[in-house]
Amino acid sequence: MLQQTQVNTVIPYFQRFCGKFPDIQTLAASDLQDVLKLWEGLGYYARARNFHKAAKAVVDEHRGNVPDDRASFLVLPGVGDYIAAAVLSIAFNKPLAVVDGNVKRVFARLFEMDAPVNQSSSYKLFKATASDLLDVDDPGTFNQAVMELGALICKPAKPDCGICPLSKWCLTLKNQRVDVFPKKNKKAPVPHHLMAVGVIFKGDKVLIVRRPEDKMLGGLWEFPGGRVLAKESAESACTRIIAEKVNLKVAIESKLTRIRHAYTHFKITADIFICTSVSGRVKRNGPTDHQWVSLNKLEQYPFPKSNHKFISKLMKDRM
Ligand code: SF4
Repeated sequence: MLQQTQVNTVIPYFQRFCGKFPDIQTLAASDLQDVLKLWEGLGYYARARNFHKAAKAVVDEHRGNVPDDRASFLVLPGVGDYIAAAVLSIAFNKPLAVVDGNVKRVFARLFEMDAPVNQSSSYKLFKATASDLLDVDDPGTFNQAVMELGALICKPAKPDCGICPLSKWCLTLKNQRVDVFPKKNKKAPVPHHLMAVGVIFKGDKVLIVRRPEDKMLGGLWEFPGGRVLAKESAESACTRIIAEKVNLKVAIESKLTRIRHAYTHFKITADIFICTSVSGRVKRNGPTDHQWVSLNKLEQYPFPKSNHKFISKLMKDRM
């Protein structure tokens, strides 16, 4: 389901995904790395891992049939109230109301609801409102209609009230307070971290490592790197982190580039260094796997977007 991701971004991914995994059995039997490769660039990689695990659970425990009761569906990996309500109402006509960001915005404006939409305790209130209004005979259409209304008409900025089918009941429109709703709590400032990353060459191959599956960006590959400490130079951080994570002593040859990247909860500025392996054998402390690969083989591995921001320069400079 589309949480925090726009439809237009997802369409080409969806088409490639369905082309490669046309049914749940094929997905369940596939390698996680192939799933992550097709998901690459979309972010929220836990969803890919959970979707893969859920497909296995459906095949192994439900004979390939997606369970249509809420209790069994909620047990599947990655499923919470939103996904359960969305899938079960749309696919199985179950009377469950969906609450996402679009739905909260529509109801907050329609009824002048003061509950901040970004506060987790508000969820119950919006859920109760949506459940009261739900068309129990056609819950899937109702849920999709409210979500679409929020996405296309009752937009965050400049809602198209003139063409809104709810305008005659809308309290904020009546009271000329549309721009005051929805209410939100102020967000804490986003932390910013300095990072150092090493592209370590041994001959014409470079070292890549795999992130633990239970961590952020889990299962993806990356060039070894980490946070620069206070009063530490990026170069020192790079050699220190490489020694800590993969047990190699490296010499820094040059700086490849600097990249910036924004994740959901923090931002990074990362200096990327070209290094050569001086001594030591790879012993992993953190990563779950490693490979020495030729540059022309890098495209076979799924990498986070932040690594793609310098891989193209690396290829251009070194191939
Ligand atoms: S009338 Fe305007 S503010 Fe009210 S629900 Fe429709 S689009 Fe949103």
